[in-house]
Amino acid sequence: MAKKSFWVGLPMQMMYGLVLGVLAGCLVSTEFATTWLQPLGQLFIRLIRMVVVPLVIATLIAGAAGLGDASKIGSIAVKTILVFAITTAIAVTIGLIVANFMDPGVGLSLSVEGLQAKSATPPPLSKVLMEIVPINPMDAFAKGNMLQVIFFSIFFGFCVSVMGEPARMITDFFQKVGDVMIKMTNYVMLYAPIGVFGLISYTVSKHGLAVLLPLGKLILCAFVATVLFVIVTYLPLIKLIGMSVTRYIKGAFEPWLIAFTTCSSAAALAINLECSRQMGASKAIASFVIPLGNTINMNGTSIYMGVTAVFAAQVFGIDLTMSQQFQIVLMGVLAAVGTAGVPGAGLIMTTIVFTEVGIPLEAVALIAGVDRVLDMIRTSVNVLGDSLTALLVSKMEGSLGTEKLDPDTHI
Ligand code: ASP
Repeated sequence: MAKKSFWVGLPMQMMYGLVLGVLAGCLVSTEFATTWLQPLGQLFIRLIRMVVVPLVIATLIAGAAGLGDASKIGSIAVKTILVFAITTAIAVTIGLIVANFMDPGVGLSLSVEGLQAKSATPPPLSKVLMEIVPINPMDAFAKGNMLQVIFFSIFFGFCVSVMGEPARMITDFFQKVGDVMIKMTNYVMLYAPIGVFGLISYTVSKHGLAVLLPLGKLILCAFVATVLFVIVTYLPLIKLIGMSVTRYIKGAFEPWLIAFTTCSSAAALAINLECSRQMGASKAIASFVIPLGNTINMNGTSIYMGVTAVFAAQVFGIDLTMSQQFQIVLMGVLAAVGTAGVPGAGLIMTTIVFTEVGIPLEAVALIAGVDRVLDMIRTSVNVLGDSLTALLVSKMEGSLGTEKLDPDTHI
């Protein structure tokens, strides 16, 4: 009985969608895929992203309010930010080291003539920090400016918590709104197998093997760096949490598959929250860490920053000095924090790193050809980093696996 439900359960249905999508993508023309298959995937992404802003507002307010008194909020926030910062810095560094060893851009004789790179001049840091504070929270909600939404929601949740009992109904209200958004996600997920099919078939048909080959070394390098990062950072974290690797892989499978196929951590947010809870993260901590990490904790994007910087420098024959490599780590961390959880966002943000060390921005156009594949790799890691942090902080706070799940919403 249990075996049967495994083979027909939602995760397996999504796997079937993935495999059939790869097959279909090999068989149909790009025109057919664009007209008929891509919309199936786009519908899925729209449905799943529809819940993001209300979910982040509700869970962060309820999460911050539910963390306890001000000193407890402070200690959890500090632990969370520390885990985010350390893993992110390790990620860029590993990307740099692996790329220096593998030389993904050496010997590449691709012409960049005629390629147009979208450039983004990095704004001054003071402006970036200032703009985290919204002048009008409603405007931030409407535009989906996630850093501003996060700032307001955490501040609001903190005030609710300081007010204590008289504001209790506000915590309860936002907790329920969060639960409703998760419920909505559960319904949307019923469509996931078809959405995954549409997304992957379109991707395979558009970026077939022939497109990937010239830049295969870059993809391989990003893949190796990512695997190495997972081995040296995530495996010890899973050990520290006290969980078996197989249990974690099983628990994180659905958010990973959504991230992999949609290339959007925002799309995987709700399901990541749910799965982290099911793996034992405390509700208040998961509600705080997951939405926050979804926007600012991008380990996969950080690896990518390191790898692409070395790749691009090599393509243009630029020798990176030690101090430039250090600059790449710093700017890579900031660029990853500022990357939105949507497809291709990291590619635009590489311009910040490239500009900093004087790499011509034409490199961006070169990478763009295979960015979808790189995006699948980096978004997977972006999402896993959030659930691991929620579990780790729950463990540090002694609340791992101590709470019962709501039988209705499963969070
Ligand atoms: N697609 C990534 C994400 O959603 C962001 C990026 O492009 O690096 O996490």
